[in-house]
Amino acid sequence: MPVPAANPLAALISRLLNMTPIGHNLQAVRARVQAAERAAGRPEGATQLLAVSKTWPAAAVRDAWEAGQRAFGENYVQEGVAKIAELDLPDLAWHFIGPLQSNKTREVAANFHWVHSVDRLKIAERLAAQRDAHLPPLQICLQVNVSGEESKSGAAPAEVEALVRDVMALPRLQLRGLMCIPEPTENAAVLQARFGLLRNLRDDLNQRLSLQLDTLSMGMSHDLEAAIAEGATIVRVGTAIFGQRNKPAG
Ligand SMILES: *Cc1c(COP(=O)(O)O)cnc(C)c1O
Repeated sequence: MPVPAANPLAALISRLLNMTPIGHNLQAVRARVQAAERAAGRPEGATQLLAVSKTWPAAAVRDAWEAGQRAFGENYVQEGVAKIAELDLPDLAWHFIGPLQSNKTREVAANFHWVHSVDRLKIAERLAAQRDAHLPPLQICLQVNVSGEESKSGAAPAEVEALVRDVMALPRLQLRGLMCIPEPTENAAVLQARFGLLRNLRDDLNQRLSLQLDTLSMGMSHDLEAAIAEGATIVRVGTAIFGQRNKPAG
């Protein structure tokens, strides 16, 4: 029986009944983000939720889109590009967040809106050269190694200022901020220090170079609260929205 749309309660019940598991998960993650913003004394909406859809099919992205999600993160170029081509939904924003090799930059420059994982000048130069002039500038975050010897990916904090200056000089890119993936740890103080390092680095760069880098991409399913407490503006969440990856089919 069709529910009259004019009745708000009936509309709500209908929405709840139609909600997919991904829709439920998204609601729960949004509630976590809001609670963390409140706990940190930050305004509601200060943190954007990026849904990391790597390894999940286009149908999962569609479910999330129907539940209101618009920004999606992908780690693997081939998989991401195939999904982007398959999905014809309005207002999607695609973020590339995985390791990026030089021979894959062309496809990333042509298909994505953001790249979070630029960690050396050569990659930025290729993205700038390959970004079509008729597209909006590619939005860029520099990935920083905040974990020292515990991690290999990302530019060393001491290298970031030079990289920022060089990337700022490139056409067709808009530098937005910094990204990090701390080493896995259960130690809350270590985690806080890693996220705090990224925030301080961004704040120092803004002050010394008179920039307005507005983005801190940090925090995932298990540590988004700690990241939001330290000023994250984008949290990248996969498992808590889509479920465990690499589980056997069926
Ligand atoms: C997979 C991935 C995520 C999401 O991790 P979850 O623990 O599933 O939330 C976030 N950022 C990057 C760079 C990733 O590769």
